[in-house]
Amino acid sequence: MKKEIIIAIDGHSSTGKSTLAKELAKALNYIYIDTGAMYRAVTYYALQNNLISEKKINKKQLINDLAKIQIDFKYNPDKGFAEVYLNGQNIEKEIRQMYVSNFVSLIATIPEVREKLVAQQRKIGERKGIVMDGRDIGSVVFPDAELKIFMTASPEVRAKRRYLELLEKGENVNFNDVLTNVIIRDKIDSERDTSPLMITPDAIKIDNSHLTRQEQLDLVFNLAKEIIDHK
Ligand code: C5P
Repeated sequence: MKKEIIIAIDGHSSTGKSTLAKELAKALNYIYIDTGAMYRAVTYYALQNNLISEKKINKKQLINDLAKIQIDFKYNPDKGFAEVYLNGQNIEKEIRQMYVSNFVSLIATIPEVREKLVAQQRKIGERKGIVMDGRDIGSVVFPDAELKIFMTASPEVRAKRRYLELLEKGENVNFNDVLTNVIIRDKIDSERDTSPLMITPDAIKIDNSHLTRQEQLDLVFNLAKEIIDHK
């Protein structure tokens, strides 16, 4: 029987984790879960319900509302990956916008939010055969994952990629705003008290500043195959 493993892909913002995770999951016929989308969904909920104003979050109300926040993934065969839904509404497009990016890392510092999302992520991963990307997958969600990748690249390279991606989607953005957002998110993610972004000793670090998408995929696919075939 084919061995199913858990592949954790963590790293800095806009390093192309989700692109790699999606392609890898497809190549292995695994499920792909974008945990950043879950934190973005909670942020979107907070924005929609006026729980964020002037950079201040109404944490108390958000924590109270957590039971009302239902996040699901549904596979979209046209896109080839599972899209995120908030209380039954497809919010895949909304959550990628800058106004969500600007608050998501603050929302992700709230321990109660993390507790809820981590529990759901563990449940999804119970049956293995999964590629999950985020910031704390190898350190907290699945510390026993068979393969852990930590991705990074220079902030300028990452901001440029994200900037071009947003322009392509028709969003009116400024490069410096994107660069600032990438740098601030990394700082908040690395310095928060609960599950900070970190590289675990057993993770394989990949700096993809000078790697093509295909080179990166080949590299990680071979690492995964090695583990799957020899287990
Ligand atoms: O991956 P993405 O950039 O969409 O994630 C958005 C934000 O969600 C991150 O900047 C981080 O603050 C938070 N996040 C997290 N833990 C995860 C995934 C994302 O704290 N596992």
